[in-house]
Amino acid sequence: MDEHCRKCGEKLKENAQFCQNCGEEVPRKNKFFLNKYSLLIVVVIIVLAILASAFILSNQTQVVKVDNVRFEIPSDYVNEPSRTEVSTDEGVKSSAMGWSNDKYYIEIGVTRVPGAGINSEEVAASIGGTPTKMFGYSGYYQKYDENSYSFVFGMKDEVCMVYVSNYDAFGDIKVLGVE
Ligand SMILES: [Zn+2]
Repeated sequence: MDEHCRKCGEKLKENAQFCQNCGEEVPRKNKFFLNKYSLLIVVVIIVLAILASAFILSNQTQVVKVDNVRFEIPSDYVNEPSRTEVSTDEGVKSSAMGWSNDKYYIEIGVTRVPGAGINSEEVAASIGGTPTKMFGYSGYYQKYDENSYSFVFGMKDEVCMVYVSNYDAFGDIKVLGVE
């Protein structure tokens, strides 16, 4: 298809940058493609930035402490103050804390006899359930209802009980250990 000057209408030579009659600049065809391409790059960068920040946010964690045991859970879990409880009865200290995000509820309880050197694994075994290994500890899990479970395991002087509203929430928990 022949191109004509936008100003004087002169038929242009192929690939001419300026009109040979009036000197008007010939709009470059590839400018449009360059702009379209640039826009695409900007869109791709924005999409990647959104995905990256979503990925970073979803991978952020918080360290939480129940008595002297430290755990790591995703940052979107919010502590439920009403589920925080500490009681000491005849030297046995029991602490419990609960967290929830928009999907799951987690509750962790730690019971210990400070300095008594109890066999916490034996205590965990006495509570019973199905033997399994989780968080790197041998323990016992129990199914409460359709979705909720608990896992009980012994550490040093500590017997830990992790309750989750959904089995998948076990995957959100990491046990960092006794302080
Ligand atoms: Zn012209």
